[in-house]
Amino acid sequence: MTRLIDSFGRVHRDLRISLTDKCSLRCTYCMPAEGVPWIPKQSVLTPEEIERIVRVAANLGVRTVRLTGGEPLISPSLIENVRRIASIRGPDGPLEIAMTTNGIRLPEFIPGLEEAGLSRLNISIDTLDPDRFAQLTRRDRLIDVLAGIEAARRSSLRPLKLNAVIMRGVNEDEVADLVEFAMEHEAEMRFIEHMPLDIGHTWDRGEMVSREEILESLSSRFSLEPLPGRGGSPAEEFSIDSGPHKVGVIASVTAPFCANCDRLRLTADGHLRNCLFAREELDLGSAVKGGASDEAIADILRATVSNKRSGHGIDNPGFVQPDRGMNAIGG
Ligand code: SAM
Ligand code: SF4
Repeated sequence: MTRLIDSFGRVHRDLRISLTDKCSLRCTYCMPAEGVPWIPKQSVLTPEEIERIVRVAANLGVRTVRLTGGEPLISPSLIENVRRIASIRGPDGPLEIAMTTNGIRLPEFIPGLEEAGLSRLNISIDTLDPDRFAQLTRRDRLIDVLAGIEAARRSSLRPLKLNAVIMRGVNEDEVADLVEFAMEHEAEMRFIEHMPLDIGHTWDRGEMVSREEILESLSSRFSLEPLPGRGGSPAEEFSIDSGPHKVGVIASVTAPFCANCDRLRLTADGHLRNCLFAREELDLGSAVKGGASDEAIADILRATVSNKRSGHGIDNPGFVQPDRGMNAIGG
């Protein structure tokens, strides 16, 4: 088997697939309030096309597929996608299928997702305060997200992780409360540093809450011990009060983990990206829609990996934010 290895020796095993760029929320760090340039419907990959791409990727060593968006729960073909991907056997057996979601309408989807073969969930929740939630996401739907997390707690989908982007003057005072909340829901809380990926270009490095500040804030309530065995994971994990609970910090800006990155991204319109911050994409979707052979699909996957840079370069003077927002890249 030829694997997906880049020029820095990084082996790629994780494919993140955005099923749609549309969403039920409008988080300020991700999307503007209105005027989003949506991907045209005819360009969106069908479940058959996604299955073909994943089958080829699995033969090249991809082991984990993460479904994301936009909001994957508003994709009409979500369950079919999970079922088709779950039927694929790579050289090491079935793939692990994870999904990142805002949790809205999750209770009605959980039985179908479990039955179709989803392995685990990450649910985003940045605040436990309904007014803040409404401001931050521009929609008054905290109650629906809480119902989604409760349904996930009662499900078989494990490990369950909750994601929060911490922002100064918005939710930085909730870091420890979010960890308590996650522990009550049998979940691991993960804090993500705010990254320059919003369509509205509102990111300001000086305003960003850093990994160090997040850990300091957590230390006022918990005793944290770094856990070994991070591998290619973006999150640095810590045990809480000697365990078994854990918390993770994803410090993409102040402590980048590019040297161990094993991820590739496929946008809803079939563009392959080798980094969240990439400015170049290869149009695999058009190739697949035009009848490309499996070998041609494999060539495009390999070419995307071989062009990967050593790091995201946020700190380089010439850094330019990608044209797509996080909702269209797939977080
Ligand atoms: N809609 C789903 C959700 O919110 O979980 C999936 C897509 S969302 C783009 C995936 C993850 O990216 C979420 O956890 C979200 O908080 C995170 N995210 C979005 N924009 C971000 C940004 N500018 N910086 C850091 N994380 C961001
Ligand atoms: Fe939607 Fe997720 Fe972006 Fe929020 S972060 S607007 S929930 S895609």
